[in-house]
Amino acid sequence: MTSSVKAITRDLAALGVRAGGVLLVHTSFRAVRPVEGGPLGLIEALRNALGEAGTLVMPTMTDGETVFDPRSTPTSDMGITAETFWRQAGVVRSTHPGGSFAAIGPQAEAICAPQPLEPPHGLESPPGRVFAQGGQVLLLGVGHSESTTLHVAEAIARVPYFVRHPCVVEEGGVAREIMIAETDHCCRGFAHMDDWLRARGLQREGRVGQAQARLCASRDIVDVAMEHLARDPFVFLCGRGEGCAECEIAWRSAGR
Ligand SMILES: [Zn+2]
Repeated sequence: MTSSVKAITRDLAALGVRAGGVLLVHTSFRAVRPVEGGPLGLIEALRNALGEAGTLVMPTMTDGETVFDPRSTPTSDMGITAETFWRQAGVVRSTHPGGSFAAIGPQAEAICAPQPLEPPHGLESPPGRVFAQGGQVLLLGVGHSESTTLHVAEAIARVPYFVRHPCVVEEGGVAREIMIAETDHCCRGFAHMDDWLRARGLQREGRVGQAQARLCASRDIVDVAMEHLARDPFVFLCGRGEGCAECEIAWRSAGR
């Protein structure tokens, strides 16, 4: 039953992962396993599918409760694959104190280059650069609710809601807490993307190991999301009065 590295590599190629391309991966290892070699085997398969000329990117976000050190701060809720990935030799990690990403391959340095604190996932951020470079987004055992690329679309569309989260940074050798504004909410509304992308044939779906996988061009995700945001800037929020505390905060931030 255990998927070999070779079988996972084959699944990824069959799904449409482009050799030589840039690939942003959000994954739940629990959904993919069992995999030969565990998370290391999955990373090996992803790198095999991309080849030497390809660049693999994963989110390595942190809780912001201590000063961020890209060489030592563990990820928060990013899963064992991303936590294993950033610690590997040759992997570059970006320096945003809450919203870091890790990458390996020819575009890794460019994708992980310094970025503004706000917004964490704007055009000038790792997922924004994956978008700009024409990369692909792979959701492996997770849905669009986990996808940072939709925050890129929200940033470009300048949605009227935001939430400030505390984050510890070091300034002049002193640790202090700052507030970072981001377009946050419960993100369950991002799941609409499945229907919107499927209707246009812009989402490839299949099995990778045991997981349900979705693969899209980052540009298609952003374009389709922006079309809907242009019609209704609140399209991704739960409705008012639906009892979603996180979306209520977002609604209030927009003065609604
Ligand atoms: Zn909500």
